[in-house]
Amino acid sequence: MFKAILINKDDHGYHAVLSEVDEQQLPVADVTVKVVASTINYKDALAITGKAPVVRIFPMVPGIDLVGEVLQSDSARFNVGDKVLLNGFGVGEGHWGGLAEKARLKSDWLIPLPAGLTPEQAMAAGTAGYTAMLCVLALQKHGITPEHGEILVTGANGGVGSYAVRLLSKLGYQVVAATGRPDESDYLKQLGATEIISREQLNAPGKPLQKERWAGVVDCVGSHTLANACASTRYGGAIAACGLAQGMDFPSSVAPFILRGITLYGIDSVMRPLADRIQAWQRLSEILSPEDFDTISHVISLGEVIDTASALLAGKVQGRVIVKIAE
Ligand code: NAP
Repeated sequence: MFKAILINKDDHGYHAVLSEVDEQQLPVADVTVKVVASTINYKDALAITGKAPVVRIFPMVPGIDLVGEVLQSDSARFNVGDKVLLNGFGVGEGHWGGLAEKARLKSDWLIPLPAGLTPEQAMAAGTAGYTAMLCVLALQKHGITPEHGEILVTGANGGVGSYAVRLLSKLGYQVVAATGRPDESDYLKQLGATEIISREQLNAPGKPLQKERWAGVVDCVGSHTLANACASTRYGGAIAACGLAQGMDFPSSVAPFILRGITLYGIDSVMRPLADRIQAWQRLSEILSPEDFDTISHVISLGEVIDTASALLAGKVQGRVIVKIAE
């Protein structure tokens, strides 16, 4: 038996409970892992609370990220004792995930834990940190350097936003952080933001073309915020869009694209090929220091996951949560 957060669904909705689960219930796959640490992403919080139909089969163990130690392997890529990292691939949605003491996973989804990162640091980053890195890599690939000007990060106090601010600032960019929590300005400045602006400056319907300001944007929010970010991106600039915290809609026009030649990059972390994942994690581990992970994250236990998921959706969780599961 092992402990797991288990989500069931009945006529009254979703029920997430910390349960004892029989190992024979683990799904079929080629690698069994002792989970050392996991985390709670926005998507995990939606799954646990049932606020959005993230879970595709029931019962489900949530947790789209995990670091673990291989207990049993039928794959030539992994041996017993290897430390492995998993992000996404539909785990925690259609296949049992990381918020449990054990997981059984397809070897095709796993990468080795990046050298230089502890399991806790990898989960302090998790999908949020890795997605922020993918966004930053997209802006860099577009050719945006610190000399080009300010970078806007929206949803800056969230997991992806916090990492985007820290990564960009460490790479020498001037970062403007947009947030609905201006009382957390000290935290954002500690991460390296040079200016904090209010979420309200961006989240209402705006003109299709506005004063040019941003050399680049990392957007975690979508909807009018993304539309306004596009409308105020400088000629030839780029936006890396990864989130929908305000909404999934994109009420924009073609004006900034055809009159200012801006580029909108869609960032997906879930089905990203292994080579891109390895590159993003490698860069993340090179850029960030142990202090960075400590500043952005705090540790909770499996027993605190359900309450924390609700707090996260209520916008009351700052930065990232590490769920410590085993030594
Ligand atoms: P998170 O920690 O909950 O952060 C979301 C942040 O968005 C909040 O902290 C808040 O920032 C801001 N926000 C929340 N509601 C808002 C609203 N109504 N209007 C404007 N801003 C709002 O979540 P996360 O893990 O960082 O994820 C951020 C987004 O990226 C989510 O939509 C998530 O689904 C998405 N995501 C996508 C991928 C991908 O592969 N594309 C990967 C990871 C995450 P402030 O308090 O600073 O305002």
